[in-house]
Amino acid sequence: MKRTVYISALCLLVVSSGAYAQKKKKAGSLDNVSITYLNNSFGTYDKLQKQIWSTPELGFLEEKSSKTLQDHLKSQGFQVEVGVAQMPTAFVATYGSGSPVIGILAEFDALPGLSQDTVPYQKPLAEGTNGHACGHNNFGVGSVAGAVAIKEWLDAGKHAGTIKVFGTPAEEGGGGKVYMVRDGYFKGVDIVLDWHPATGNGVSVGTGTAIQMIDYTFKGIAAHAAGSPDKGRSALDGVEAFDYMVNLLREHVPFSSRIHYVITNGGEAPNVVPEYAKVSYYIRSPQRKVLEDLVTWVNAAAEGAAKGTQTTVSSEVIAGFYEVFYNHTLQKLVQQQLELVGGIKYDERERAFAEAIVKGLGNDLSTLKAAEEVRPLAEERPSTGGGSSDVGDVSWNVPTASFGTAVFVPGSAGHSWQNVASGGTTIGTKGLLNAAKVFALSAIELYSNPKLVEEAKKEFEERRGKDFKYVPLLGDRAPALDYRVKK
Ligand SMILES: [Zn+2]
Ligand SMILES: [Zn+2]
Repeated sequence: MKRTVYISALCLLVVSSGAYAQKKKKAGSLDNVSITYLNNSFGTYDKLQKQIWSTPELGFLEEKSSKTLQDHLKSQGFQVEVGVAQMPTAFVATYGSGSPVIGILAEFDALPGLSQDTVPYQKPLAEGTNGHACGHNNFGVGSVAGAVAIKEWLDAGKHAGTIKVFGTPAEEGGGGKVYMVRDGYFKGVDIVLDWHPATGNGVSVGTGTAIQMIDYTFKGIAAHAAGSPDKGRSALDGVEAFDYMVNLLREHVPFSSRIHYVITNGGEAPNVVPEYAKVSYYIRSPQRKVLEDLVTWVNAAAEGAAKGTQTTVSSEVIAGFYEVFYNHTLQKLVQQQLELVGGIKYDERERAFAEAIVKGLGNDLSTLKAAEEVRPLAEERPSTGGGSSDVGDVSWNVPTASFGTAVFVPGSAGHSWQNVASGGTTIGTKGLLNAAKVFALSAIELYSNPKLVEEAKKEFEERRGKDFKYVPLLGDRAPALDYRVKK
């Protein structure tokens, strides 16, 4: 099974758009202990991100990566609760006391088959092994650096306020955040700030899609495929009839829907009628209600296929995420801080690396400007498809904003070898430190201005609606801790 293809569209990358320029308001200042701390800590965080980059671990298996982040937080005085929500690599690290309580999300899982050296041409470190093609090495360390910088500010001014780092495993398909939401770890959190490594610097405005990932298992009767085919009933026939029906129905579903599948088990040998066959589906829509209708239809197709092939079918929801619901009040706040921090400034060596990547992509060198600039805040547009993220479930429970910094060379594709290469260099470290600065400046504004927190919460309640009730799309299942274990 081509795992790379299987998960490639999962991550909801930071979306850019022109739209309208945000009126610049008077923002805070870079002259504070948080920024000074981060300016003096390049070596510390460069080392940490490269440590995680060089031991890329898959979803729910990120023991070393998670521990690296936990150890650093503990060394800085954070209380760390490990193994939360039935996930050994999930953690919540807390510092400070009183309100407001600000949460920062930290991811750290890697992707299979994307090993790559820190060079501007394709060169796997070890063919077929894991790589940080989504920059979660930078992601986790940037979030932790931001939280420690916030701690420095809380300490220096003896300010009231709590900072929490949510170590969220298995973003690439496992949905670690959803279990933490479901088990109540975000209760009492006032604001969530989030980021993602990107090819530019900007606030995220794309709301992506809600998703359900469902495995369908067909069972038939094994028989000699030539000697006694009449005695057999093929589970693979069930899968094929099911996939065929889905491929017919996809013409008649709302345009923004996305349905994709891979057959993960289609039998063992052609001369044996397959007794067992399995197909994994991702079903997505920008709207949860539409997703529910799609899943009902796809389930009916599975039942129909089983009936027509005299097999049986069972299904298991592996994971499910809400579409993202961003808070506009927080987006404006984060935009101001991002503009204050600015883009990435390459040194000579970094520029040569980035130019080689750009040339390799066949792009014009002028595209590199995107790394240096901060995009204006774009207007939120109704999603027309796209990826999904488990940040969605967090964002429907706590007012949330997300942004990106240029950890990757502009023009690089998501989940690409170029991203592994760039994220493992000092470009990645500069990107994560810019993110940490945006976290620190945003938190300082929120701690200093309780009205801002109230405004974000009021907007959240009003736009979410008073009838909203959170029902996880993955039901009451336990985390699929072995979803990346080869069987
Ligand atoms: Zn990803
Ligand atoms: Zn990602």
